[in-house]
Amino acid sequence: MRGALLGIGLAVTFFCATANAAPCPGNPNALGVSRELTVTAGDYSRLGTMQYRQTLPLADREVVLTFDDGPLPPYSDHVLAALAAECVKATFFLVGRHARAHPDAARRIYNAGHTIGTHSQNHPLSFDQISDGRVEHEIDDGIASVTAALGDSKALAPFFRVPGLRRTASVEAHLRTRSLVVWSSDTLADDWRPISSDQVLRLALSRLEARGKGVLLLHDIQARTVLMLPTLLAELKKRGFKIVHVISEGARPVLPEAPIAEAEPARPGWPRVSKVAAAPVKTAARSFWSTFAGLQAGPVKYDLHGSQ
Ligand SMILES: [Zn+2]
Repeated sequence: MRGALLGIGLAVTFFCATANAAPCPGNPNALGVSRELTVTAGDYSRLGTMQYRQTLPLADREVVLTFDDGPLPPYSDHVLAALAAECVKATFFLVGRHARAHPDAARRIYNAGHTIGTHSQNHPLSFDQISDGRVEHEIDDGIASVTAALGDSKALAPFFRVPGLRRTASVEAHLRTRSLVVWSSDTLADDWRPISSDQVLRLALSRLEARGKGVLLLHDIQARTVLMLPTLLAELKKRGFKIVHVISEGARPVLPEAPIAEAEPARPGWPRVSKVAAAPVKTAARSFWSTFAGLQAGPVKYDLHGSQ
């Protein structure tokens, strides 16, 4: 599938599309999307100042939201609901085996207008230590699984984020041969750590304020991220930040609602469900959370980055 992209060039070119000025139904004061940014094979192949010299050409107060590790209902759907309430678009880096297990959830992310990249098949936590052969399988199987879930390879952007950001020269070489844009990030909010949603919110805002702009890496499989996301979006609006939606080149296919791929039962292993309830929430996100009846008993949390 990626073969057609070979020869286009190993770099990435950016150019801006017209701003999305569509109104947000039911929310005239929504944060919205201020503009779209198309990222194509051209001048650069790697993004994110956490690890690389190059990053997205964002203006002051511009933010790109990214979510890793999904799809995982119900959390991914709560993230979608929070983004939809503010008419915000983001980029999701899906894990192949999660897309295989929840193809309908993968398709819901796409049909909500978000951009979808991949994040390996099994999310090995030691991506910098596994063999070249396994790296290639993880990359290719992840793409195949997410493509199968979506049902159309054109729905998938040629974007890849290395699990745990554990890049190596060898990993990047494999990604280059597939003309994949390697996404690191500009900043994090530590939402995989056992901290409260308030702490995640504070980290996200303080780090974005310190940088003034940038790509923010979050996880759509974390209860604490779901809990703080409505407040984060409200605060970004209040503080004058604007959301940039990164898209890939080419027409965006319309997918039928029904999933094409057969759902597979989730395999045991990562992410492991623990029985520890999420920390108490003291933000406006509480009312958002309480609207989801199935989760009122106390959300579970996932041990994302523990050993496999
Ligand atoms: Zn991840």
